[in-house]
Amino acid sequence: MTRVPVRDDLRALEGYHSPQVHVDVRLNTNESPFAPPAAWYDAFAAELSRVEWHRYPDRAAAALRAGIAHLHQVRPDQVFVANGSNEVLQTLLLTFAGPGRAVATFEPTYQLHGHIARLTGASVLEGERAVDFSLDLAEVRRVLAAGSPVVTFLCSPNNPTGLVESQADVRTVLGLVPGLLVVDEAYGQFADWSAIGLVDDETPLVVTRTFSKTWSMAGSRLGYLIGPAWLVAELDKVVLPYHLDAAKQIAGRLALTFVDEMEARVQFIVAERERLSAELAAMDLDVFPSGANFILFRPRSMAGRAVWQRLLDRNVLIRDCSGWPRLGDCLRVTVGTASENDQFLAALTGALSPEAVH
Ligand SMILES: *Cc1c(COP(=O)(O)O)cnc(C)c1O
Repeated sequence: MTRVPVRDDLRALEGYHSPQVHVDVRLNTNESPFAPPAAWYDAFAAELSRVEWHRYPDRAAAALRAGIAHLHQVRPDQVFVANGSNEVLQTLLLTFAGPGRAVATFEPTYQLHGHIARLTGASVLEGERAVDFSLDLAEVRRVLAAGSPVVTFLCSPNNPTGLVESQADVRTVLGLVPGLLVVDEAYGQFADWSAIGLVDDETPLVVTRTFSKTWSMAGSRLGYLIGPAWLVAELDKVVLPYHLDAAKQIAGRLALTFVDEMEARVQFIVAERERLSAELAAMDLDVFPSGANFILFRPRSMAGRAVWQRLLDRNVLIRDCSGWPRLGDCLRVTVGTASENDQFLAALTGALSPEAVH
């Protein structure tokens, strides 16, 4: 059988990888360590039994959109929902990027911003961050002026560094962009401010969010953006009809009725993040300040990859970023339950000790 050649511009692209290994303590993908509340399971099961499975789902996902709009005090026509915020990003880029257009990122940042942009045929302008991974506004000005990107990405808190962009910087970038500014707030609930308050129908700004991290719903694949109503209407034309199945709409809508439980989980994780950061700072590591549910750190006197392997040998899986561009020797740990965090700290202490034979 003959292999049909893929598009010329896709031939050099690599897929997005997040290796999964079976271990006791899995702190590598920034999910919530907690399942949804028991009452959510009951309500979901009850509603599922009443779904008319022979009918298409509500194409506009009106109830889910209304719930999200209510949560953020915006109008439902300013909300676009899709299968994970990755599909939100894909729909945005299918609508605004594409061949002959440019998209700007400031590296290191979330790899899928550039990856999905390239899949649409756009070119990606990779701006650099400062050595401490903060945004360099002179570099932002240079990239935007040189390449005139139709979409500019920021990620706050930034994945994988954990850094929160300041409100002043986001406002400055918003004033500079020649096109659309997308602020990816997948970890927004863990930070001390949100750009959602800057969204209105006259401003070229969208903020993306996900149910995967704070809402304990990574299994459901649900994400959304808050943006100008005209833009949401354009995205609705591009996304496939009936893209949100009935079960997912119910899952998301019901999750939004457990806001207090979600906020309690966020508070717990933020407290654990502070505890972990303090413990890590006392070890032979450089630790980056985090406003998210994960922490980036770099061993000072051992290769990052070796520390990652020694943790794995101790049944703890974290994210190995040591081979990623600009992140030499860096590792990223997701904040877990108190017990998981303790097991991670114990394993790390062992891994860093010079006598450790793996
Ligand atoms: C996890 C993550 C997402 C993807 O979220 P999904 O809703 O699960 O697709 C988007 N952006 C960033 C920065 C993330 O870390």
